Amino acid sequence: MPSIRFQALQSVANAEEKKIHGYGEKKITAIFASNVFTGRTMREHLSDEAYKSLMNSAKTGSRVDRRMADQVAAGMKSWAEERGVTHFTHWFQPLTGTTAEKHDSFFTIKSDGTAIELFDGDALIQQEPDASSFPNGGIRATFEARGYTAWDPSSPAFIMEAGSGKTLCIPTIFIAYNGESLDYKAPLLKSIAALDKAAVDVCHFFDKNVSKVTATLGWEQEYFVIDEALANARPDLMMCGRTLLGHGPAKGQQLEDHYFGSIPERVYAFMQDFEQESYKLGIPLRTRHNEVAPSQFECAPIFEECNIAVDHNTLLMDVMNKVAKRHKLKALLHEKPFAGVNGSGKHNNWSLATDTGVNLLSPGKTPRTNLMFLTFFVNTIKAVCDYDDLLRGAIASANNDHRLGANEAPPAIISVYIGKFLSDVLDEVETRVKEKFTEQDEVILKLDIHKQIPELLMDNTDRNRTSPFAFTGNKFEFRAVGSSANCASPMVVLNTIMAETLKQFKKDVDALTEKGDKKEIAVLQVLRDYITKSKKIRFEGDNYSAEWAEEAKRRGLNNFKTTPEALDAFVTEKGKQVFYDNGIYSKRELEARHEIMLEEYIKKVQIEARLLGYLATNHILPAAINYQNTLIQNVKGLKEIGLDKKTYKAQLNLVEVISGHIQNINDNVEAMLETRKKANEITDIHKRALKYCHEVKTYFDKIRYHADKLELVVDDKLWPLPKYRELLFMR
Ligand code: ADP
Ligand code: MG
Repeated sequence: MPSIRFQALQSVANAEEKKIHGYGEKKITAIFASNVFTGRTMREHLSDEAYKSLMNSAKTGSRVDRRMADQVAAGMKSWAEERGVTHFTHWFQPLTGTTAEKHDSFFTIKSDGTAIELFDGDALIQQEPDASSFPNGGIRATFEARGYTAWDPSSPAFIMEAGSGKTLCIPTIFIAYNGESLDYKAPLLKSIAALDKAAVDVCHFFDKNVSKVTATLGWEQEYFVIDEALANARPDLMMCGRTLLGHGPAKGQQLEDHYFGSIPERVYAFMQDFEQESYKLGIPLRTRHNEVAPSQFECAPIFEECNIAVDHNTLLMDVMNKVAKRHKLKALLHEKPFAGVNGSGKHNNWSLATDTGVNLLSPGKTPRTNLMFLTFFVNTIKAVCDYDDLLRGAIASANNDHRLGANEAPPAIISVYIGKFLSDVLDEVETRVKEKFTEQDEVILKLDIHKQIPELLMDNTDRNRTSPFAFTGNKFEFRAVGSSANCASPMVVLNTIMAETLKQFKKDVDALTEKGDKKEIAVLQVLRDYITKSKKIRFEGDNYSAEWAEEAKRRGLNNFKTTPEALDAFVTEKGKQVFYDNGIYSKRELEARHEIMLEEYIKKVQIEARLLGYLATNHILPAAINYQNTLIQNVKGLKEIGLDKKTYKAQLNLVEVISGHIQNINDNVEAMLETRKKANEITDIHKRALKYCHEVKTYFDKIRYHADKLELVVDDKLWPLPKYRELLFMR
């Protein structure tokens, strides 16, 4: 019987491109948001009163009036039923990193026994999923294991299609009985509100008409696509999302012939299909292209309000996984599925928009609006400088550890790139304001940078692709985020530290104006101070270089190389304080989250260690021994027919080499097992995570080294796992 690898290879050879029906003929606008309960649909299905109430809640984030909830639920139900929906679910984002749903039928039986379809306000507003198996870091004590999902009216309900089934999904937050959050969305909404308030206050220095500031997010999602049958023949890809073994192919990404190259047809069909599903869900996908590594791709939407953008990204990841199955493909969202080729990230483009239509990180058209731009620009840099450790912590995960600092992704050191032009502007403010800050007109006119900025900043050549946090003309781009991460994690931190910095900024400016300074002068004074104080976080050079690591050390910047260390940021006094002061997390919630993240880290490494031991012992060693036996038979035969020893020297040598690798693999697997046992005995979770990180994990490379060497010598026919060249180049 051929091995699963050869069966898989056969199936790839026979794979056909799946034809996509539907859009292609149609315009995107014809299907866009057709499965979303949008403002327009609301108008059609709700009374004026209910519509207004819901729109108001969506805008202000306030609770929906209980009396209205029944009406809204009825409207939603009639809309959904028209589309063949039979079930509904509260859709939420628990800390497991995926999304969760528990489907309930509209169908119910009344007390008199009649069967009806029911979906009322109670079902819409709040549910009590059996939540005891979601991570909670000890927040839900055993005596009170209840968790609630509560409707987030600022994110629209949508219909999820799976096969022929259709489910009405209500976006919700997930909280414990006592109100402590157990998900990504609840803190995100709080951080958005905190930033709104702080930013509006600062906007009022320049423009009294601003009454709302929204954080905007445009993510860029990188991913790999490989054949499903091949993926299924790799237990490591199935269980861990990445290859734990595998020698690099003769050809990798060195020719760089994949980037922006033409998209292979099977993958293209998959893209069209998941784009179509995404459009129906209102996800405004805009671009798609090949990435640098073979079989790596990227897609990006038009940016949206932060909360919606986060929902859409989690939805997209879900849709991609589902749709890939239809095409007998597998989408790999892991940060580092393959050693030796680039990993995947998820750039988070972030900015601030006012309800007066201004992008606060876009250089203005007049000196006055430029001062407003400069204010938000400098405050962002200051926020990153003061809380770089929190940003680093927000992107820390076992997966991302493989990517950060691997000469393909930003290092673990957080720094800000702003380009030469704006560096000069900041330098000028720093020196000029020092000299003559009373001559306000002159100083402010000097800031009249709008004439030159657009051409200069929009020029791609001015970009520094190695920077983890780069200003790209009208937004900051946080590039160190991992491809499988929930964007909420970095967004909560960014929004919160920005809120905190802006609050302080307002206080500092107010203090000066109270002393009699003119407002513009006070603003400039404080900006100058912030520019000086945040200088060390600015870096324009090559972030991948070894010199930068040294330079950063001299500057006193943090460099947390691994997840267990990086996560500490959330439980320092300073870290706890900033979340607490801005109403995002209580100190207890933070400690619980910290524990959840450490736990998740340990579990990931633990699973990988187990699987690696299994693969090495049950797949690699038998293949090696099998081939070695063939060699031995060969040597015996040659000897038997009376040939001289030098005629089978190569075979004999190979027998020995193989034995060496077998021994090494065996010893390392055993040692890893022992270390794991010791690690598991450690009760302190932080110490346990460190043990896994610095001891258990060190065996991964050792085992891999010998297994990959064996891959090079063992007869290809006997090798049980699909090889890199097959995974990466066959479609
Ligand atoms: P890149 O060269 O990095 O691909 P793009 O100009 O294509 O840059 O934009 C990348 C992402 O930035 C897109 O998802 C886009 O929607 C997003 N973006 C653009 N403007 C903003 C903004 N004001 N706020 C947030 N995201 C934005
Ligand atoms: Mg980008």
